[in-house]
Amino acid sequence: MARYTDAVCRLCRRESQKLFLKGERCYSPKCSLERRNYPPGQHGQGRKKVSDYGIQLREKQKAKRFYGLLEKQFHNTFLKASRKKGITGENLLVMLETRLDNVVFRMGFASSRKEARQLVNHGHFLVDGAKVDIPSYEVKPGQKVVVKKRSHSSAKFKEIKDFQISAPEWLSVDIEKLEGTVLNYPTRDIIDTPIAEHLIVELYSK
Ligand code: SF4
Repeated sequence: MARYTDAVCRLCRRESQKLFLKGERCYSPKCSLERRNYPPGQHGQGRKKVSDYGIQLREKQKAKRFYGLLEKQFHNTFLKASRKKGITGENLLVMLETRLDNVVFRMGFASSRKEARQLVNHGHFLVDGAKVDIPSYEVKPGQKVVVKKRSHSSAKFKEIKDFQISAPEWLSVDIEKLEGTVLNYPTRDIIDTPIAEHLIVELYSK
């Protein structure tokens, strides 16, 4: 499957926003955005007038990069969100939040969404007792996400217990047992992703 392989810190600098793509480094002074808070490239520090389209495009790029999706996956998620009842922008964010890779990250079983995606791909998780290795799997309220017993001894999960990320209120987590449950769908007010989703809806509605 296609994936982004260039330096990920450039993406944060391009969006002028921390996207938390590198785990622990993102929370330290080594973060590239802390040191060079301007867009990458030769003209990165020049002033530019941005059109409405440019603003909408940047918001979509930011959301896509925040959740680690490529254009086609992101657009397909948007189309599904637009077919659901309710507000499309909010549906989109809820769908992105309830992806298995994001749930794993939010539960604190990975230090970044990228790592969460890799751990899911490698089959370390059970959802309601069944192995799921599809990062885009949509986890529903009431479902339990558990790290497989065989994976508990791996260094990765041992160090995860030290790197504590506090889970949002729509999830309950037992970090010692390496398991968690989705309690509800998250509502917009508790999703802390710094994204103005209405700009994405405007962009795709053109
Ligand atoms: Fe972004 Fe993390 Fe790199 Fe900082 S360290 S620029 S937050 S990916």
